[in-house]
Amino acid sequence: MKQLTLPSGRTIPVLGQGTWYMGEDPGARAGEVAALRLGLELGMTLVDTAEMYGEGGAEEVVGEAIAGRRDEVFLVSKVYPHNADRAGVRAACERSLRRLKTDRLDLYLLHWRGGVPLAETLDAFARLRDEGKILDFGVSNFDLDDMQEAAALPHGDSIAADQVLYNLARRGIEWDLLPWCRQQGIPVMAYSPLESNAADQAPLLGRPQLHTVAGRHGVTPAQVAVAWLLRQDGVVTIPKAVQPAHVRANRAALDLAPRLTEDDMATPDAGFPPPKRRRPLEMR
Ligand code: NAP
Repeated sequence: MKQLTLPSGRTIPVLGQGTWYMGEDPGARAGEVAALRLGLELGMTLVDTAEMYGEGGAEEVVGEAIAGRRDEVFLVSKVYPHNADRAGVRAACERSLRRLKTDRLDLYLLHWRGGVPLAETLDAFARLRDEGKILDFGVSNFDLDDMQEAAALPHGDSIAADQVLYNLARRGIEWDLLPWCRQQGIPVMAYSPLESNAADQAPLLGRPQLHTVAGRHGVTPAQVAVAWLLRQDGVVTIPKAVQPAHVRANRAALDLAPRLTEDDMATPDAGFPPPKRRRPLEMR
């Protein structure tokens, strides 16, 4: 699996597995664990979760899926903004570690910006890193002004990633946030690469330009959408899939990405124009 280098010098795989909406329905649990395990077997060893997902339920699903193979996994979790003060970060992290049945996270993110001063959260993250409970830390849903503010604070130069909404239908970050992150050497983790759910997916996956490219390669529009993200410099993406066919399709997008020609990469622009001015960061 291709990797990007984090500011710490550690590396992160470019394609991983999301877990939003996992851990909510006990009847779905076995299928969720199996999907994540299939993804690991196929080499998608980055797993993205959060204390928010299923209020801890998703972390428990991940803990079961990675049991016995923790060392091959790049594990990401996120702290709620309301837990992001000095004592809260520590307590939240320890709860997450227990649910995940591990002693460390590879990357711990502030899920979105809340009322706690950023300096306090960064300081709390740095302490956890010094203790080995987290190996890197970063943020999520931070627009450029938030990133610049955070970067200027103590420990701000350790911010390892910004996880944001980015897909063909949401290209606003290409105007300023993505170029800035590239210049700083901070990977962007593109979430909701397929727009999260069936209702929102239609405008993305239904566009004729995606079908054109998919038809050229004998793949699905969803695979083109994921592969297109994988071709963006400095970008990691984390599609969530429970259906085994979707897990396999997403892994195959990794092999599709280098096969996309310049024309394939440009074809979607007609349906999903790149930004022509600054737009505020969109979020889920
Ligand atoms: P997503 O990955 O864009 O889309 C998930 C949906 O797409 C599911 O319904 C899934 O179906 C379907 N799908 C997956 N692979 C497919 C394929 N190859 N073809 C067709 N459909 C496919 O949405 P997301 O879950 O919102 O985003 C991904 C991850 O990003 C999340 O799970 C979470 O880890 C993270 N995230 C972070 C934030 C944040 O604020 N930091 C916000 C949103 C998401 P099945 O599950 O039925 O297979």
